[in-house]
Amino acid sequence: MNSAPECKSYYAATVNDSTKYPRLQGDEGADICIIGGGFTGLSSALRLAEKGYSVTLLESFTIGWGASGRNGGQLIRGIAGQPALRKEYGPDIEAFINRLRWRGNEIVEENIKKYDIECDLKHGFIDCAYKDRQMRDLEAEIESSSVLGMEDRFRMVSAEEMNEYVGTSVYKGGLYNNADGHLHPLNLCKGEARAATGLGAKIYEQSPVLSITHGKKPVVHTEEGTVRAEIVILAGNAYHLLEQKKVGGILFPAGTFIIATEPLGNNLAGDLMPRDLAVCDVNEMLDYYRLSSDKRMLFGGRCNYSGREPRDIKATIRPRMLRVFPQLKDARIDFQWGGKIGIVINRIPQFGRIGNNVYYAQGYSGHGINQTHIAGEILTKAICGQMEDFDVFAKAKHWKIPAPRWVGNNLVALGMVYYRMKDLL
Ligand SMILES: Cc1cc2nc3c(=O)[nH]c(=O)nc-3n(C[C@H](O)[C@H](O)[C@H](O)COP(=O)(O)OP(=O)(O)OC[C@H]3O[C@@H](n4cnc5c(N)ncnc54)[C@H](O)[C@@H]3O)c2cc1C
Repeated sequence: MNSAPECKSYYAATVNDSTKYPRLQGDEGADICIIGGGFTGLSSALRLAEKGYSVTLLESFTIGWGASGRNGGQLIRGIAGQPALRKEYGPDIEAFINRLRWRGNEIVEENIKKYDIECDLKHGFIDCAYKDRQMRDLEAEIESSSVLGMEDRFRMVSAEEMNEYVGTSVYKGGLYNNADGHLHPLNLCKGEARAATGLGAKIYEQSPVLSITHGKKPVVHTEEGTVRAEIVILAGNAYHLLEQKKVGGILFPAGTFIIATEPLGNNLAGDLMPRDLAVCDVNEMLDYYRLSSDKRMLFGGRCNYSGREPRDIKATIRPRMLRVFPQLKDARIDFQWGGKIGIVINRIPQFGRIGNNVYYAQGYSGHGINQTHIAGEILTKAICGQMEDFDVFAKAKHWKIPAPRWVGNNLVALGMVYYRMKDLL
Protein backbone atom coordinates (compact mmCIF):
# COMPACT_ATOMS: atom_id res chain seq x y z
CA MET A 1 0.00 0.00 0.00
CA ASN A 2 1.25 3.53 -0.77
CA SER A 3 2.00 5.63 2.30
CA ALA A 4 0.13 8.93 2.66
CA PRO A 5 1.60 11.92 0.88
CA GLU A 6 2.58 13.98 3.91
CA CYS A 7 0.66 17.20 4.54
CA LYS A 8 3.07 19.62 6.20
CA SER A 9 0.40 21.90 7.52
CA TYR A 10 0.39 24.08 10.61
CA TYR A 11 -2.35 21.77 11.91
CA ALA A 12 -0.28 18.60 11.48
CA ALA A 13 2.52 20.33 13.40
CA THR A 14 0.24 21.31 16.30
CA VAL A 15 -2.17 18.38 16.53
CA ASN A 16 -3.06 17.55 20.14
CA ASP A 17 -4.03 13.88 19.76
CA SER A 18 -1.60 11.30 18.45
CA THR A 19 -4.01 8.32 18.54
CA LYS A 20 -3.28 5.88 15.74
CA TYR A 21 -6.00 3.51 14.61
CA PRO A 22 -5.19 0.06 13.23
CA ARG A 23 -5.37 -1.12 9.64
CA LEU A 24 -8.36 -3.31 8.74
CA GLN A 25 -7.23 -6.93 8.60
CA GLY A 26 -9.77 -9.72 8.21
CA ASP A 27 -13.52 -9.76 7.82
CA GLU A 28 -15.94 -7.84 10.00
CA GLY A 29 -19.59 -6.96 10.20
CA ALA A 30 -21.27 -3.67 11.17
CA ASP A 31 -24.62 -1.96 10.83
CA ILE A 32 -22.98 0.92 9.01
CA CYS A 33 -19.66 1.09 7.16
CA ILE A 34 -18.39 4.60 6.46
CA ILE A 35 -15.73 5.28 3.83
CA GLY A 36 -13.68 8.39 4.62
CA GLY A 37 -12.39 9.92 7.83
CA GLY A 38 -13.14 13.59 7.18
CA PHE A 39 -15.98 15.60 8.73
CA THR A 40 -18.69 13.95 6.59
CA GLY A 41 -17.59 10.49 7.72
CA LEU A 42 -16.78 11.46 11.31
CA SER A 43 -19.92 13.49 11.99
CA SER A 44 -22.02 10.65 10.54
CA ALA A 45 -20.11 8.07 12.61
CA LEU A 46 -20.66 10.07 15.78
CA ARG A 47 -24.38 10.70 15.21
CA LEU A 48 -25.01 7.06 14.25
CA ALA A 49 -23.01 5.75 17.22
CA GLU A 50 -25.07 8.04 19.46
CA LYS A 51 -28.17 6.37 18.05
CA GLY A 52 -26.79 2.96 18.99
CA TYR A 53 -25.72 1.68 15.57
CA SER A 54 -22.54 -0.34 15.25
CA VAL A 55 -20.28 1.72 12.98
CA THR A 56 -17.01 0.90 11.22
CA LEU A 57 -15.16 3.77 9.53
CA LEU A 58 -12.39 3.13 6.99
CA GLU A 59 -9.88 5.84 6.09
CA SER A 60 -7.24 5.57 3.35
CA PHE A 61 -4.59 7.37 5.38
CA THR A 62 -5.18 8.99 8.76
CA ILE A 63 -8.16 10.70 10.40
CA GLY A 64 -8.48 14.23 9.01
CA TRP A 65 -5.93 13.60 6.26
CA GLY A 66 -8.20 15.13 3.56
CA ALA A 67 -9.71 18.61 3.39
CA SER A 68 -11.21 18.37 6.88
CA GLY A 69 -7.84 18.35 8.62
CA ARG A 70 -6.22 20.99 6.43
CA ASN A 71 -8.81 23.67 5.85
CA GLY A 72 -8.94 27.33 6.83
CA GLY A 73 -10.76 26.46 10.04
CA GLN A 74 -13.48 29.01 9.26
CA LEU A 75 -16.78 27.94 10.74
CA ILE A 76 -19.18 29.71 8.41
CA ARG A 77 -22.96 29.67 8.13
CA GLY A 78 -24.89 28.74 5.04
CA ILE A 79 -25.26 26.03 2.50
CA ALA A 80 -23.87 26.37 -0.99
CA GLY A 81 -26.03 26.49 -4.09
CA GLN A 82 -28.87 28.57 -2.66
CA PRO A 83 -29.73 30.28 -5.98
CA ALA A 84 -29.92 26.86 -7.66
CA LEU A 85 -32.04 25.48 -4.80
CA ARG A 86 -34.44 28.43 -5.16
CA LYS A 87 -34.63 27.85 -8.92
CA GLU A 88 -35.31 24.16 -8.39
CA TYR A 89 -37.88 24.43 -5.59
CA GLY A 90 -39.24 27.99 -5.66
CA PRO A 91 -39.95 30.20 -2.61
CA ASP A 92 -40.99 27.24 -0.42
CA ILE A 93 -37.33 26.28 -0.07
CA GLU A 94 -36.59 29.41 2.00
CA ALA A 95 -37.65 27.85 5.31
CA PHE A 96 -35.47 24.80 4.63
CA ILE A 97 -32.42 26.94 3.80
CA ASN A 98 -32.91 29.05 6.91
CA ARG A 99 -33.39 26.05 9.18
CA LEU A 100 -30.08 24.58 8.02
CA ARG A 101 -28.16 27.83 7.73
CA TRP A 102 -26.41 27.54 11.09
CA ARG A 103 -27.21 23.92 11.92
CA GLY A 104 -23.69 22.60 11.23
CA ASN A 105 -22.13 25.29 13.43
CA GLU A 106 -24.54 24.30 16.20
CA ILE A 107 -23.62 20.63 15.87
CA VAL A 108 -19.90 21.46 15.97
CA GLU A 109 -20.41 23.49 19.15
CA GLU A 110 -22.53 20.72 20.70
CA ASN A 111 -19.83 18.14 19.90
CA ILE A 112 -17.07 20.33 21.33
CA LYS A 113 -19.00 20.81 24.57
CA LYS A 114 -20.37 17.32 24.95
CA TYR A 115 -17.11 15.51 24.18
CA ASP A 116 -14.69 18.04 25.59
CA ILE A 117 -12.87 18.61 22.32
CA GLU A 118 -10.00 21.10 22.49
CA CYS A 119 -9.83 22.81 19.12
CA ASP A 120 -9.41 26.55 19.86
CA LEU A 121 -12.97 27.54 18.97
CA LYS A 122 -13.40 31.34 18.74
CA HIS A 123 -16.54 33.26 17.81
CA GLY A 124 -16.74 36.10 15.32
CA PHE A 125 -16.54 36.37 11.55
CA ILE A 126 -16.59 39.15 9.00
CA ASP A 127 -17.45 39.05 5.30
CA CYS A 128 -15.46 41.83 3.61
CA ALA A 129 -16.50 43.75 0.50
CA TYR A 130 -14.26 45.32 -2.13
CA LYS A 131 -17.11 46.90 -4.05
CA ASP A 132 -20.30 48.86 -3.41
CA ARG A 133 -22.42 46.18 -5.05
CA GLN A 134 -20.91 43.63 -2.63
CA MET A 135 -21.85 45.91 0.29
CA ARG A 136 -25.42 45.97 -1.01
CA ASP A 137 -25.47 42.16 -1.11
CA LEU A 138 -24.29 42.05 2.50
CA GLU A 139 -26.96 44.56 3.54
CA ALA A 140 -29.55 42.33 1.86
CA GLU A 141 -28.44 39.45 4.08
CA ILE A 142 -29.25 41.48 7.20
CA GLU A 143 -32.62 42.39 5.73
CA SER A 144 -33.49 38.76 5.06
CA SER A 145 -32.27 37.84 8.54
CA SER A 146 -34.61 40.36 10.14
CA VAL A 147 -37.51 38.29 8.80
CA LEU A 148 -36.11 35.39 10.79
CA GLY A 149 -35.39 37.42 13.92
CA MET A 150 -31.69 36.77 13.46
CA GLU A 151 -30.62 40.33 12.74
CA ASP A 152 -29.08 40.64 16.21
CA ARG A 153 -26.32 38.31 15.08
CA PHE A 154 -25.21 40.76 12.39
CA ARG A 155 -23.75 44.21 12.15
CA MET A 156 -22.78 46.17 9.04
CA VAL A 157 -19.30 47.64 9.34
CA SER A 158 -18.43 50.78 7.37
CA ALA A 159 -15.07 51.46 5.71
CA GLU A 160 -14.30 53.93 8.53
CA GLU A 161 -15.01 51.33 11.23
CA MET A 162 -13.14 48.57 9.47
CA ASN A 163 -9.90 49.10 11.39
CA GLU A 164 -11.63 48.04 14.60
CA TYR A 165 -12.25 44.65 12.96
CA VAL A 166 -9.42 44.05 10.49
CA GLY A 167 -6.27 46.16 10.23
CA THR A 168 -6.35 46.91 6.52
CA SER A 169 -7.69 49.67 4.31
CA VAL A 170 -8.48 47.54 1.26
CA TYR A 171 -12.18 46.99 1.95
CA LYS A 172 -15.30 49.13 1.47
CA GLY A 173 -16.73 47.58 4.63
CA GLY A 174 -18.15 44.29 5.78
CA LEU A 175 -20.77 42.25 7.57
CA TYR A 176 -19.80 41.07 11.06
CA ASN A 177 -21.55 38.27 12.89
CA ASN A 178 -20.87 36.63 16.20
CA ALA A 179 -22.30 33.18 15.45
CA ASP A 180 -19.63 32.07 12.97
CA GLY A 181 -16.03 31.71 14.03
CA HIS A 182 -12.87 29.67 13.66
CA LEU A 183 -11.17 26.59 15.06
CA HIS A 184 -8.31 24.09 14.62
CA PRO A 185 -9.96 21.66 12.19
CA LEU A 186 -7.58 18.72 12.61
CA ASN A 187 -8.04 18.76 16.36
CA LEU A 188 -11.81 18.79 15.81
CA CYS A 189 -11.47 15.74 13.51
CA LYS A 190 -9.39 13.90 16.08
CA GLY A 191 -11.82 14.83 18.86
CA GLU A 192 -14.85 13.63 16.90
CA ALA A 193 -13.04 10.37 16.09
CA ARG A 194 -12.28 9.91 19.80
CA ALA A 195 -15.91 10.65 20.69
CA ALA A 196 -17.21 8.13 18.14
CA THR A 197 -14.86 5.36 19.27
CA GLY A 198 -15.84 6.17 22.87
CA LEU A 199 -19.38 5.20 21.85
CA GLY A 200 -18.21 1.94 20.31
CA ALA A 201 -17.48 2.93 16.70
CA LYS A 202 -14.46 1.22 15.13
CA ILE A 203 -12.00 3.23 13.09
CA TYR A 204 -9.39 1.80 10.75
CA GLU A 205 -6.66 3.98 9.24
CA GLN A 206 -4.31 3.12 6.35
CA SER A 207 -7.24 1.15 4.93
CA PRO A 208 -8.22 2.46 1.50
CA VAL A 209 -11.43 0.98 0.19
CA LEU A 210 -10.88 -0.63 -3.20
CA SER A 211 -14.43 -1.56 -4.10
CA ILE A 212 -17.96 -2.19 -2.90
CA THR A 213 -19.88 -5.35 -3.74
CA HIS A 214 -23.52 -4.34 -3.85
CA GLY A 215 -26.36 -6.47 -2.59
CA LYS A 216 -28.78 -6.86 0.29
CA LYS A 217 -25.78 -6.54 2.58
CA PRO A 218 -23.06 -4.64 0.72
CA VAL A 219 -19.45 -5.69 1.27
CA VAL A 220 -16.68 -3.12 1.39
CA HIS A 221 -13.25 -4.38 0.35
CA THR A 222 -9.81 -3.15 1.38
CA GLU A 223 -6.52 -4.78 0.51
CA GLU A 224 -6.48 -6.89 3.66
CA GLY A 225 -10.08 -7.12 4.81
CA THR A 226 -13.78 -6.65 4.28
CA VAL A 227 -16.69 -5.07 6.12
CA ARG A 228 -20.16 -6.50 5.52
CA ALA A 229 -22.76 -3.90 6.49
CA GLU A 230 -26.44 -3.12 6.29
CA ILE A 231 -25.63 0.33 4.99
CA VAL A 232 -22.54 1.99 3.49
CA ILE A 233 -21.83 5.72 3.50
CA LEU A 234 -19.44 7.02 0.88
CA ALA A 235 -17.75 10.08 2.41
CA GLY A 236 -14.57 10.46 0.36
CA ASN A 237 -15.62 13.78 -1.23
CA ALA A 238 -12.95 15.10 -3.62
CA TYR A 239 -10.47 12.37 -2.72
CA HIS A 240 -12.27 9.21 -3.82
CA LEU A 241 -12.77 7.48 -7.14
CA LEU A 242 -15.30 4.86 -6.06
CA GLU A 243 -18.63 4.20 -7.78
CA GLN A 244 -17.78 6.40 -10.75
CA LYS A 245 -20.69 5.04 -12.78
CA LYS A 246 -23.04 6.87 -10.42
CA VAL A 247 -21.00 9.74 -8.99
CA GLY A 248 -18.36 10.26 -11.70
CA GLY A 249 -18.65 13.46 -13.73
CA ILE A 250 -20.72 15.35 -11.15
CA LEU A 251 -18.02 16.48 -8.70
CA PHE A 252 -14.70 18.10 -9.54
CA PRO A 253 -11.72 18.45 -7.24
CA ALA A 254 -10.33 21.97 -6.94
CA GLY A 255 -7.19 22.94 -5.05
CA THR A 256 -7.08 25.70 -2.48
CA PHE A 257 -3.96 26.75 -0.59
CA ILE A 258 -2.86 28.23 2.73
CA ILE A 259 0.29 29.75 4.18
CA ALA A 260 1.04 30.30 7.87
CA THR A 261 3.43 32.97 9.06
CA GLU A 262 5.68 32.76 12.08
CA PRO A 263 3.94 33.76 15.38
CA LEU A 264 3.43 37.52 15.07
CA GLY A 265 3.40 38.47 18.73
CA ASN A 266 0.57 40.21 20.56
CA ASN A 267 1.18 43.72 19.20
CA LEU A 268 1.29 43.01 15.48
CA ALA A 269 -1.40 40.32 15.71
CA GLY A 270 -3.59 42.77 17.66
CA ASP A 271 -3.06 45.50 15.04
CA LEU A 272 -3.98 43.20 12.16
CA MET A 273 -6.82 41.31 13.80
CA PRO A 274 -8.05 43.37 16.79
CA ARG A 275 -11.06 41.10 17.33
CA ASP A 276 -9.42 37.79 16.37
CA LEU A 277 -12.10 37.12 13.75
CA ALA A 278 -12.28 34.70 10.86
CA VAL A 279 -12.32 36.75 7.65
CA CYS A 280 -13.40 36.07 4.07
CA ASP A 281 -13.76 38.52 1.26
CA VAL A 282 -16.85 38.04 -0.83
CA ASN A 283 -15.17 37.58 -4.20
CA GLU A 284 -15.85 34.34 -6.03
CA MET A 285 -12.06 33.76 -6.00
CA LEU A 286 -11.91 34.64 -2.36
CA ASP A 287 -9.17 35.12 0.23
CA TYR A 288 -9.82 33.70 3.70
CA TYR A 289 -7.70 34.26 6.77
CA ARG A 290 -7.50 34.28 10.55
CA LEU A 291 -5.05 34.07 13.41
CA SER A 292 -4.06 30.74 14.90
CA SER A 293 -4.08 30.35 18.66
CA ASP A 294 -0.33 31.10 18.71
CA LYS A 295 -0.98 34.24 16.66
CA ARG A 296 0.26 33.25 13.25
CA MET A 297 -1.56 34.61 10.22
CA LEU A 298 -3.16 31.68 8.39
CA PHE A 299 -3.93 33.08 4.96
CA GLY A 300 -5.64 31.04 2.25
CA GLY A 301 -7.00 31.49 -1.19
CA ARG A 302 -6.60 30.89 -4.89
CA CYS A 303 -8.92 28.11 -5.83
CA ASN A 304 -7.33 26.15 -8.60
CA TYR A 305 -10.02 24.60 -10.75
CA SER A 306 -7.63 22.66 -12.94
CA GLY A 307 -6.98 20.34 -9.97
CA ARG A 308 -3.23 21.02 -10.31
CA GLU A 309 -1.16 22.23 -7.37
CA PRO A 310 0.99 25.35 -7.91
CA ARG A 311 4.69 24.54 -7.88
CA ASP A 312 5.32 27.09 -5.14
CA ILE A 313 2.33 27.74 -2.86
CA LYS A 314 4.10 30.49 -0.92
CA ALA A 315 4.93 32.39 -4.12
CA THR A 316 1.26 32.24 -5.10
CA ILE A 317 -0.41 33.12 -1.79
CA ARG A 318 2.07 35.52 -0.15
CA PRO A 319 1.47 38.38 -2.64
CA ARG A 320 -2.27 38.07 -1.97
CA MET A 321 -1.61 38.32 1.76
CA LEU A 322 0.64 41.37 1.30
CA ARG A 323 -2.04 43.11 -0.74
CA VAL A 324 -4.28 42.96 2.34
CA PHE A 325 -1.54 43.28 4.98
CA PRO A 326 1.58 45.02 3.68
CA GLN A 327 2.59 45.05 7.38
CA LEU A 328 3.55 41.36 6.96
CA LYS A 329 6.28 41.94 4.39
CA ASP A 330 8.98 40.79 6.81
CA ALA A 331 7.04 37.92 8.38
CA ARG A 332 8.60 34.52 7.81
CA ILE A 333 6.37 31.88 6.23
CA ASP A 334 6.63 28.71 8.34
CA PHE A 335 4.06 26.48 6.66
CA GLN A 336 2.46 26.13 3.24
CA TRP A 337 0.00 23.48 2.14
CA GLY A 338 -3.06 22.80 0.07
CA GLY A 339 -5.95 20.42 -0.25
CA LYS A 340 -8.88 19.51 -2.44
CA ILE A 341 -12.46 20.67 -2.17
CA GLY A 342 -15.31 19.11 -4.14
CA ILE A 343 -16.85 21.54 -6.62
CA VAL A 344 -20.33 20.97 -7.98
CA ILE A 345 -21.43 22.95 -11.03
CA ASN A 346 -24.68 24.31 -9.53
CA ARG A 347 -23.06 24.34 -6.04
CA ILE A 348 -25.85 22.29 -4.39
CA PRO A 349 -24.29 19.66 -2.09
CA GLN A 350 -24.83 16.19 -3.54
CA PHE A 351 -26.70 13.59 -1.52
CA GLY A 352 -27.88 10.35 -2.99
CA ARG A 353 -28.12 6.59 -2.89
CA ILE A 354 -26.66 3.87 -5.04
CA GLY A 355 -29.20 1.10 -4.84
CA ASN A 356 -31.03 1.14 -1.54
CA ASN A 357 -28.20 0.95 0.89
CA VAL A 358 -25.13 2.85 -0.29
CA TYR A 359 -25.49 6.52 0.60
CA TYR A 360 -23.20 9.37 -0.42
CA ALA A 361 -22.81 13.02 0.56
CA GLN A 362 -20.25 15.27 -1.08
CA GLY A 363 -19.57 18.53 -2.90
CA TYR A 364 -19.80 21.34 -0.39
CA SER A 365 -17.90 23.83 -2.58
CA GLY A 366 -16.01 25.53 0.22
CA HIS A 367 -18.35 25.98 3.20
CA GLY A 368 -17.48 22.52 4.36
CA ILE A 369 -17.33 22.54 8.14
CA ASN A 370 -20.93 23.66 8.56
CA GLN A 371 -22.27 21.57 5.69
CA THR A 372 -20.43 18.33 6.52
CA HIS A 373 -21.92 18.40 9.99
CA ILE A 374 -25.36 19.02 8.51
CA ALA A 375 -24.65 16.07 6.21
CA GLY A 376 -23.88 13.80 9.16
CA GLU A 377 -27.22 14.68 10.71
CA ILE A 378 -29.18 14.35 7.46
CA LEU A 379 -27.60 10.96 6.66
CA THR A 380 -28.33 9.72 10.19
CA LYS A 381 -31.94 10.85 9.97
CA ALA A 382 -32.30 9.20 6.54
CA ILE A 383 -30.91 5.93 7.86
CA CYS A 384 -33.39 6.18 10.75
CA GLY A 385 -36.20 6.58 8.20
CA GLN A 386 -36.63 10.38 8.16
CA MET A 387 -35.93 11.08 4.50
CA GLU A 388 -37.34 14.62 4.12
CA ASP A 389 -34.12 16.67 4.31
CA PHE A 390 -32.12 14.04 2.46
CA ASP A 391 -34.67 14.00 -0.36
CA VAL A 392 -34.53 17.77 -0.88
CA PHE A 393 -30.85 17.44 -1.77
CA ALA A 394 -31.12 14.04 -3.43
CA LYS A 395 -33.83 15.21 -5.81
CA ALA A 396 -31.89 18.28 -6.96
CA LYS A 397 -30.68 17.92 -10.53
CA HIS A 398 -26.95 17.95 -11.25
CA TRP A 399 -24.96 18.38 -14.42
CA LYS A 400 -23.03 15.29 -15.35
CA ILE A 401 -20.03 15.67 -17.63
CA PRO A 402 -19.64 12.26 -19.26
CA ALA A 403 -15.90 12.56 -19.84
CA PRO A 404 -12.70 11.75 -17.95
CA ARG A 405 -12.14 13.85 -14.83
CA TRP A 406 -9.40 16.00 -16.38
CA VAL A 407 -11.77 17.07 -19.16
CA GLY A 408 -14.43 17.95 -16.60
CA ASN A 409 -11.91 19.85 -14.51
CA ASN A 410 -10.78 21.87 -17.51
CA LEU A 411 -14.39 22.72 -18.35
CA VAL A 412 -15.00 23.82 -14.76
CA ALA A 413 -11.76 25.86 -14.90
CA LEU A 414 -13.04 27.53 -18.05
CA GLY A 415 -16.36 28.29 -16.36
CA MET A 416 -14.50 29.89 -13.48
CA VAL A 417 -12.93 32.45 -15.83
CA TYR A 418 -16.43 33.97 -15.90
CA TYR A 419 -16.41 34.34 -12.11
CA ARG A 420 -12.90 35.83 -12.14
CA MET A 421 -14.12 38.44 -14.62
CA LYS A 422 -17.14 39.11 -12.37
CA ASP A 423 -14.84 39.78 -9.40
CA LEU A 424 -12.92 42.30 -11.45
CA LEU A 425 -15.97 44.27 -12.58
C1 LIG B 1 -7.18 24.24 1.92
C2 LIG B 1 -8.66 24.16 2.22
C3 LIG B 1 -9.27 25.19 2.93
C4 LIG B 1 -10.62 25.13 3.25
N1 LIG B 1 -11.14 26.05 4.09
C5 LIG B 1 -12.37 25.89 4.59
C6 LIG B 1 -12.84 26.73 5.63
O1 LIG B 1 -12.13 27.59 6.12
N2 LIG B 1 -14.11 26.52 6.08
C7 LIG B 1 -14.90 25.53 5.59
O2 LIG B 1 -16.04 25.40 6.04
N3 LIG B 1 -14.48 24.70 4.63
C8 LIG B 1 -13.23 24.84 4.14
N4 LIG B 1 -12.75 23.95 3.20
C9 LIG B 1 -13.65 22.89 2.71
C10 LIG B 1 -13.79 21.75 3.74
O3 LIG B 1 -12.57 21.43 4.32
C11 LIG B 1 -14.38 20.52 3.04
O4 LIG B 1 -15.57 20.86 2.38
C12 LIG B 1 -14.73 19.41 4.03
O5 LIG B 1 -13.67 19.21 4.93
C13 LIG B 1 -15.06 18.11 3.30
O6 LIG B 1 -15.13 17.08 4.25
P1 LIG B 1 -15.32 15.59 3.79
O7 LIG B 1 -15.29 14.75 4.99
O8 LIG B 1 -16.50 15.47 2.91
O9 LIG B 1 -14.05 15.29 2.87
P2 LIG B 1 -12.51 15.16 3.28
O10 LIG B 1 -12.22 15.90 4.51
O11 LIG B 1 -11.72 15.48 2.06
O12 LIG B 1 -12.39 13.64 3.68
C14 LIG B 1 -12.46 12.60 2.76
C15 LIG B 1 -11.63 11.47 3.31
O13 LIG B 1 -11.94 10.29 2.61
C16 LIG B 1 -10.77 9.53 2.48
N5 LIG B 1 -10.93 8.62 1.35
C17 LIG B 1 -11.04 8.91 0.04
N6 LIG B 1 -11.17 7.79 -0.69
C18 LIG B 1 -11.14 6.77 0.19
C19 LIG B 1 -11.19 5.36 0.03
N7 LIG B 1 -11.30 4.78 -1.18
N8 LIG B 1 -11.13 4.58 1.14
C20 LIG B 1 -11.03 5.14 2.39
N9 LIG B 1 -10.95 6.48 2.57
C21 LIG B 1 -11.01 7.28 1.49
C22 LIG B 1 -9.69 10.58 2.25
O14 LIG B 1 -8.39 10.09 2.55
C23 LIG B 1 -10.13 11.69 3.16
O15 LIG B 1 -9.51 11.65 4.42
C24 LIG B 1 -11.40 24.02 2.81
C25 LIG B 1 -10.81 23.00 2.08
C26 LIG B 1 -9.45 23.06 1.79
C27 LIG B 1 -8.82 21.94 1.01
